[in-house]
Amino acid sequence: MRRFLIFLFVSSVFLYGKLNLTKEENNFIKTHSVKCILTPNWAPFNTKINGKIAGISVDYWNLIKKRLHLKSDFIITDKWETVLNKIRLKQADVALSASKTKDREKYSIFTKPYAVFPIAIATRNNIGYIASMQFLKNKIIVVGKNYTAARLLKEKYPKFNILEVENIKTALKMVSEGKAYAAIDIMPVLIYNINKYEFANLKISGKTPLKFKMQFMVRNDYKPLVSAINKAIDTITPREKNKIYSKWIYVNYQNGFSLKQVLIGSLIIGIMVTVLFIYWIIRLKKEIKKRHQLEEELRKISFYDSLTSIYNRYKIDMSLKTQIELSKRYKTPLSIIFFDIDDFKKINDTYGHKIGDEVLIELSKTIKENIRQTDIFGRWGGEEFIIILPNTNVTVAQKIAQKLKRVIENHNFPFIKKLTCSFGVTEMKENDSINTLTVRADTLLYEAKKQGKNRVISDLNS
Ligand code: GH3
Ligand code: MG
Ligand code: MG
Repeated sequence: MRRFLIFLFVSSVFLYGKLNLTKEENNFIKTHSVKCILTPNWAPFNTKINGKIAGISVDYWNLIKKRLHLKSDFIITDKWETVLNKIRLKQADVALSASKTKDREKYSIFTKPYAVFPIAIATRNNIGYIASMQFLKNKIIVVGKNYTAARLLKEKYPKFNILEVENIKTALKMVSEGKAYAAIDIMPVLIYNINKYEFANLKISGKTPLKFKMQFMVRNDYKPLVSAINKAIDTITPREKNKIYSKWIYVNYQNGFSLKQVLIGSLIIGIMVTVLFIYWIIRLKKEIKKRHQLEEELRKISFYDSLTSIYNRYKIDMSLKTQIELSKRYKTPLSIIFFDIDDFKKINDTYGHKIGDEVLIELSKTIKENIRQTDIFGRWGGEEFIIILPNTNVTVAQKIAQKLKRVIENHNFPFIKKLTCSFGVTEMKENDSINTLTVRADTLLYEAKKQGKNRVISDLNS
């Protein structure tokens, strides 16, 4: 009995120790079930995917909930006013993604920001990088009515030509059709909606100096909850943030002008006004560097997995779509290989998550070195990977998978030394969609696991 009590004590110190919760905070958590209220119509912060509530702020909330061992349920409502009202009347306890205003602070407390996003500018593709807000001074800017971005923008730039429209979709449509010059909103909202509604002629052209801080808004008699959440926020790692970010943010990356084009243009003007020219070049270079940084940042989060630097799920989905179309049009074969690390959980459990991550990085690097330039390699999710093989039938694909199986088997991984994977290999059939093709590969992979792992199962030997 005494041992058991010591165990309980030690494990609770371990669980809560990292957060250093006070007695009052712990008590609060033990005795309350928190009602968390949100609207499902603010993608990608809070939205509904396949009928389930999801989004950036939902992901953050789930992290906090897990850290604090907090009991909590969602209340979903269509109107933002209802969210505020219920917090005010104490019929709900926490709103997921509010921003601080004087009025709201009368009846609620805000936690510290858990994420900060720039408020960005979307224009048509043919516009260059927008380095200064002064550039937008006499242009029509559209924003979603009563959105936080609209409020901040009007405060800071009262003389600007800011038009409030029904929502961000309408705003983007107006820019796309040339009825407005720029749409301004929080960067993830812009990117998400440009992709969702497929505005192919729009891009992100710059950032405003304004920032949107995401905070939890808590009813004002729940002080211990606020301080506990603040402590949990401090423990969120950059890796966790990155994971949430890349899951929700896909970008239509568009090229602007090249450095060379800009320099030639500058030279012609420079011959006429030499002194101004030098000054101008220095500034231009700085702006171009900034623009390249922004573009590079956008390109990275759009196509590459933040951990392994191979293609992410979004890019893979796009490539699959293109390759299936090409293969149907030109009647060329197309195969895919799915593979999944064997007993990866054990590796995490034995060596820790960090070494697990190192293994994923090393494995991705090894595979990349052993496939053809034309093969498309990406992370399907977790510790599962996909290789798309254009112009390849299943016989050849199976051989490639066998080779990769051997390469992995014989590779000396840091720390863990040995690692194996199981493979499912299939060739596209005439009526295949992305879904039927990938489900078949996954089934074959599952069969390989069932038959004892570290093996290749394809259409030929299933
Ligand atoms: P099986 O041979 O049947 O595939 O067993 P398994 O243990 O590999 O499979 P399972 O799917 O049960 O476990 C996969 C584990 O991979 C669970 C999850 O924690 C871990 N994992 C997923 N993504 C990551 C990641 O990014 N980093 C690390 N370190 N682990 C991850
Ligand atoms: Mg596995
Ligand atoms: Mg798996």
